[in-house]
Amino acid sequence: MTVLVINCGSSSLKYAVFDDKEKLLVSGKHERLVMDGEEGKSHVDALQQVVEHCREFKLSCVGHRVVHGGATFTQPQLIDNDVLQAIEAYIPAAPMHNPYSLAAIRELQTHWPSVPHIAVFDTSFHARMPRRATTYAIDQDVARKYGIRRYGFHGISHQYAAGIAAEFLQRPLDELRLITMHLGNGASAAAVEFGCSTETSMGNTPLEGLVMGSRSGDVDAGVLLNLLRSGEYSAESLDQLLNKQSGLAGLSGISNDLREIETAATAGNDRARLAINVFAHRARKYIGAYAAAMGGVDAIAFTGGIGENSASMRARILQRLEFLGVMIDEDRNHDAQIKSDDEYAVISTPRSRVDVVVVKTNEELMIARESTRIAGAQDRGDVIASAAKPPIPIAVSARHCHLTEATFKQLFGNDATPTPVKDLSQPGQYACAEKITLLGPKNRIEGVRLLGPLRSVDQIEISRSDEFRLGVDAPVRNSGQVKDSAPITIEGPAGKLHLSEGLICARRHIHMHPDDAAVYGVNDRDEVSVKVSGGERDLIFGDVLIRVKDSYKLEMHIDTDEGNAAEIGRDSSGTVNAQDVDELDEDVYRVARENAELEK
Ligand code: ADP
Repeated sequence: MTVLVINCGSSSLKYAVFDDKEKLLVSGKHERLVMDGEEGKSHVDALQQVVEHCREFKLSCVGHRVVHGGATFTQPQLIDNDVLQAIEAYIPAAPMHNPYSLAAIRELQTHWPSVPHIAVFDTSFHARMPRRATTYAIDQDVARKYGIRRYGFHGISHQYAAGIAAEFLQRPLDELRLITMHLGNGASAAAVEFGCSTETSMGNTPLEGLVMGSRSGDVDAGVLLNLLRSGEYSAESLDQLLNKQSGLAGLSGISNDLREIETAATAGNDRARLAINVFAHRARKYIGAYAAAMGGVDAIAFTGGIGENSASMRARILQRLEFLGVMIDEDRNHDAQIKSDDEYAVISTPRSRVDVVVVKTNEELMIARESTRIAGAQDRGDVIASAAKPPIPIAVSARHCHLTEATFKQLFGNDATPTPVKDLSQPGQYACAEKITLLGPKNRIEGVRLLGPLRSVDQIEISRSDEFRLGVDAPVRNSGQVKDSAPITIEGPAGKLHLSEGLICARRHIHMHPDDAAVYGVNDRDEVSVKVSGGERDLIFGDVLIRVKDSYKLEMHIDTDEGNAAEIGRDSSGTVNAQDVDELDEDVYRVARENAELEK
């Protein structure tokens, strides 16, 4: 059985076929592809030739490289309609890549309709970076509205390079703090901490970070504002400037090809020398930054056309890193020749505290491996994350109370009425300015927010930590089920009252409109478990109650203890875990999260 790998870009298409021993059977590359209707070879022509070339093979699966899977996909995916839609949804974020991948998937699905097609994403390896690394320091409402966060790219290469670097160094990946430097036409660095990417230099788009062949990498955003204000630049021409006329090409004025620049530099060309220096300086800065971010570095891996081949660039990047414990053996660096996958070169000295290794990247092989793994899991009927359902926001509820009119008047005075200050996500619900104090046998908790409107029963919702603080024992209950719950004394500015029941620890639940329930295939009062991942600590919440009502808006509610345990953030994500609910079948859903702002 064999696997076909397709790597389709805006003007090129690479393909490869591997057998089940990972032996490369055929490979090829079509370049300078043109848009439909233009003179020359189009993507469709190229795909036809791939089909011709590969027709003889009995394929077990087809693996497609997809550049942008956003934060949705932490794993390669068996391609179904939902996955296709998600890839389509990321077209605006990756206009040079996702449309071509999508077209290739659709075309090849018609030729191999009965074999699984798998999408392997460049973003997946970075999809679980901590929030501090994915967040830009801009207005978070704007960031959410426009999806402005860091994704990272080249993940297939970084993951592969990290894996084989560890293998060659004979050190366990999950004990290593590695920096992987993918230096090719596109270039990026990644901090791979114990096997996971925790930082990477490309961000919301593949433009951020290192100097590249013709891309600028980091530029002060103020420069772009000034160019726009000058009236001489539009979004289009800025795009052209930063993506096509910058980087090594823009700096040198010669080429985006480092070989030509190195030749010119040797001949004394000043711009060529500057290009090399800027490239190396930026790369060195990132190594230092990532060592600091990880609290140290055990190994550095170089890969990509420049990383694999340019000894002088490697030497420049690595100079003056002795303070980090990096000691380079100049002869080994100079002699390093990496021509095949099973070759590598350690270019650090035996006494270097940091191992430095040069490895050959092989994205196609990585895609083949991952595709085979996912297709195999599918065959065995394992649950595969099919993460393309609409996101379920998670709201973290701080301690709060719902009061009856009588209780409210007793605490706040006969003439008082609740003062709404902020609408909550569930229609008709709002946070009020009024706050009460809980008086427990051990301690008091002040500032417990009233939520409106007033209700027919008093209900105070606290977390397990609050229970310990108060010295009370509150049962876990669904909202509204306060009969025989815990007693508590409550106090407001106008009075104090002992409730014989009403104190609960709210049971975690998901509000759904019936339309949402249909999409997720669940019914009112079903129980599911929810896997929360995307932050630094994955967690599965069991016993999550589904509540379906016409007036509900899709949202999962948990308390602060639960939110903290899962390190819930605004844009971290989770999945509804399928096994618990028959109707959910094999699907595993994605959950995006959101903090309720009650505690503010
Ligand atoms: P892509 O990102 O398009 O896959 P590559 O990983 O092939 O690009 O890297 C292309 C870059 O590698 C070019 O800048 C090229 O000049 C550089 N490169 C390839 N071989 C050498 C070499 N022997 N010396 C210096 N640079 C090299």
